[in-house]
Amino acid sequence: MSTFITTFKEGNKEMKQQLGGKGANLAEMTNLGYPVPNGFTIHTSACSLYQRDQKLSDTLKNDIKKHIQTIERETNKNLGSKSNPLLLSIRSGAEISMPGMMDTILNLGINDEIAYELAKKDPLFAYDLYRRFIQMYGNVVKGIPMEKFDKIYDSFDTINTDSLLTIINDYKSLYQAETKETFSQNPYHHLYEAIESVMASWGNERAVYYRDVNNIHNIKGTAVNVQTMVFGNVDEHSATGVCFSRNPSTGKKELFGEILWQAQGEDIVAGTHTPLPIQSLISKKPELYEQLHHLVYELEKHYKDMQDIEFTIESNRLYLLQTRSGKRTPQAALKINRDLFDEGIISKKELILQTNEHDISGALHAEFNIDTVNLATEIGHGMNASPGAAVGRIAFNKEQTLDYVENGYNVILVRHETSPDDIQAMDQAQGIITAQGGMTSHAAVVTRAMGKPCIVGSNDIKINNQNEVIIGQKTYQKGDYISMSGTTGTIYDGKLVLETQQKPKEFDQILNLGNKHQTIKILANADTPKDIKTALLYDAKGIGLVRTEHMFFDEERIRLFQQMILSQTSEKRKIALDKLLPVQAEDFYNLFKANGSLPITVRYLDPPLHEFLPNSPHAIKSLSDDSKISVVDLKKQIQRLQEVNPMMGHRGIRLGITYPEIYTMQTTAILIAALKHYNENPTIQLNINLMLPLVSDLKELIIMRETISKTIKNYESKHQVSFNIKIGTMIELPRACLIADEIAEHSDFISFGTNDLTQMTLGFSRDDIHSFIDDYGQKGIYKNDPFKTIDTDGVGELLKIAVQKARSIKPQLPMGVCGEHGGDRTSIIFFENIGMDYVSCSPYRVPNAILTSAKIGFQ
Ligand code: ADP
Ligand code: MG
Ligand code: MG
Repeated sequence: MSTFITTFKEGNKEMKQQLGGKGANLAEMTNLGYPVPNGFTIHTSACSLYQRDQKLSDTLKNDIKKHIQTIERETNKNLGSKSNPLLLSIRSGAEISMPGMMDTILNLGINDEIAYELAKKDPLFAYDLYRRFIQMYGNVVKGIPMEKFDKIYDSFDTINTDSLLTIINDYKSLYQAETKETFSQNPYHHLYEAIESVMASWGNERAVYYRDVNNIHNIKGTAVNVQTMVFGNVDEHSATGVCFSRNPSTGKKELFGEILWQAQGEDIVAGTHTPLPIQSLISKKPELYEQLHHLVYELEKHYKDMQDIEFTIESNRLYLLQTRSGKRTPQAALKINRDLFDEGIISKKELILQTNEHDISGALHAEFNIDTVNLATEIGHGMNASPGAAVGRIAFNKEQTLDYVENGYNVILVRHETSPDDIQAMDQAQGIITAQGGMTSHAAVVTRAMGKPCIVGSNDIKINNQNEVIIGQKTYQKGDYISMSGTTGTIYDGKLVLETQQKPKEFDQILNLGNKHQTIKILANADTPKDIKTALLYDAKGIGLVRTEHMFFDEERIRLFQQMILSQTSEKRKIALDKLLPVQAEDFYNLFKANGSLPITVRYLDPPLHEFLPNSPHAIKSLSDDSKISVVDLKKQIQRLQEVNPMMGHRGIRLGITYPEIYTMQTTAILIAALKHYNENPTIQLNINLMLPLVSDLKELIIMRETISKTIKNYESKHQVSFNIKIGTMIELPRACLIADEIAEHSDFISFGTNDLTQMTLGFSRDDIHSFIDDYGQKGIYKNDPFKTIDTDGVGELLKIAVQKARSIKPQLPMGVCGEHGGDRTSIIFFENIGMDYVSCSPYRVPNAILTSAKIGFQ
């Protein structure tokens, strides 16, 4: 056994870290007895050594040679032999699949003499192999642009032995001109260089970008698979193909894929040839179809997931070249998981663990409003490769795309076909349309994984140049607007209206299953009845945060509110507040009505008051007219309220301390609303929590609690009711965490506002962080954006202390988190771990959070 090499016979699917996904699965299939060409895998750790040394060690080279000799014995073919040549494919494959990101070299082992010998039997095949090899080797190993090879190839109208010989010569001259060296005739030289360049491709720009976009950071390199070639281009009974065990767009159970006769694999993936649907195999070669069908579903059962399989037929014999979990659209992902569960292939636990949070949110993608579709002008069609709808300006390349996006425009990327170099543009565009390619072309595969609409193979498109395209009858310039539906494959003129789509039925089915296994409870943040309805639709267990300030931004109310702020005396303020009272009461009533009897937590007014005052001269003038305060006085007042550090200024409970009448008005409004709601629904069990924001000291809390309790008691005795309202504290300051035991004693619950707590603990203003956070990310300072994923070392430690201290006083005290972190998977797991009872997040993130919560229960 070598330290850096494992043969396909020795490996298995659990060894991904060492062998990469492709290598581990080739080994697994080999051991299942499936037809896989002989080969071995050089470990990922060898790639990290290569990154360090920039060359293969002699020991490794020797080892490679030994393993080649084993293959030679087993296949009865020899590398470099004229009479019986062994040809190899050199394939990359990291632990996490990065389709098409790194390089593959086919037909290695051929040279002048071998091509000449092979040509005696079949010149077309032999010389086609050779020209393919020079091209791939020249491109991948020596970096000669593919277009230069294509240009030579395309200059021939017919491909026959003569033209192939000329092409080979021209390729060699190109190679010589570009590299200043003659094309080597030594297969071992080719082999080592090919392995090195596959290892080097780990660091190429598009692979690095792919890892960045997909947040793949913890793996060290790619494995390299060295495998015997099988030839899909040897005769008319040969083909290459790709197929999925389920439809990756819809999730439907069917063999879905494509086959290309007399071709090699790269022809299909590049999207340059349009292949036939896999079903065409049924009539042409029924036994082969039967065999493929059988193997595909065996593999699916074995891996318990939808498989994406690459195969080659060489003279009527089927070989499997790859299997992996197939990329799929979010809708398809949900359907597939649900179906696998129904078919008994996966258990409920596997269903929950296998469902991805991204797919849950992705399944709620946008479609066009049906009325606008009926009025729209269809200009073209193509294959519906990835569902969803998009509207944007036409861009033809990366530069144009990035330019529009930077200026705030949406883009639809229009191309002949896409290649891995287009990843960045594809990532930034809203949708992608290609003139060529099939359902498994690069564009199709990548967009499905991105959950982004895509249309491929549209014959209605003629790209004239990088500024102009004809779609159907009309010519469009770069920057013109079009709309596209990847769901139907239709392209429309101009801008259609987008709207959120109905969720697939599997969405609820999976979440209902997950719901029962929730560990940490999922509540929602909601400010309006509409938010509450969304939250309840997604099965939130209550409303964890109602921010009351949003109620004041309405045009009419803001006037009343401004008058209140501008009042110089407590009496005047009271008059303004009295006018606000019924308005707020009505707001709360509508919230309670929408919410029913679930727990609802209302936070008292939080932001600094100056946020409510105007700053444009026009708005100041208008307020001056309405409030009968002179512009000069008004400006003075506004200035008086301005703060240098408003986030650390006169806000939160500090407002309640200085203007208790504001919090009293809010309390009364809640009581009025509660009574009205209760009178209308006497059987309902109200579950209202009131929350004091930004508490830093116990005294603040005691004073405000007393004020509020008094108001409640008076109201309740006057109306002969009891609402059992709870009063709690929002902890958002480091100091409050450290005195959480004292706070707990005077609180009925604690909710951690982790946005402010992060801001106050790190000293990062959450509104200004963008000026430096990217640099921090690049330099590896703070692994994640701390406002997105909780900073466990700092903020997390404070939370732990707070939970411990609070529970030491009241072991049963309800505690949870409201804030953006409540919707983040990693953060939710942390919160559950330290003993929080709930998280509250924005309504659209509730389904995600429920899934995460259920997963915790199963793990
Ligand atoms: P990728 O990771 O980009 O899919 P692969 O290593 O799978 O790259 O290679 C791309 C294509 O090359 C495969 O789909 C297959 O058709 C062809 N190929 C790879 N290895 C072999 C082989 N041993 N024999 C024949 N074709 C091969
Ligand atoms: Mg592949
Ligand atoms: Mg806050």
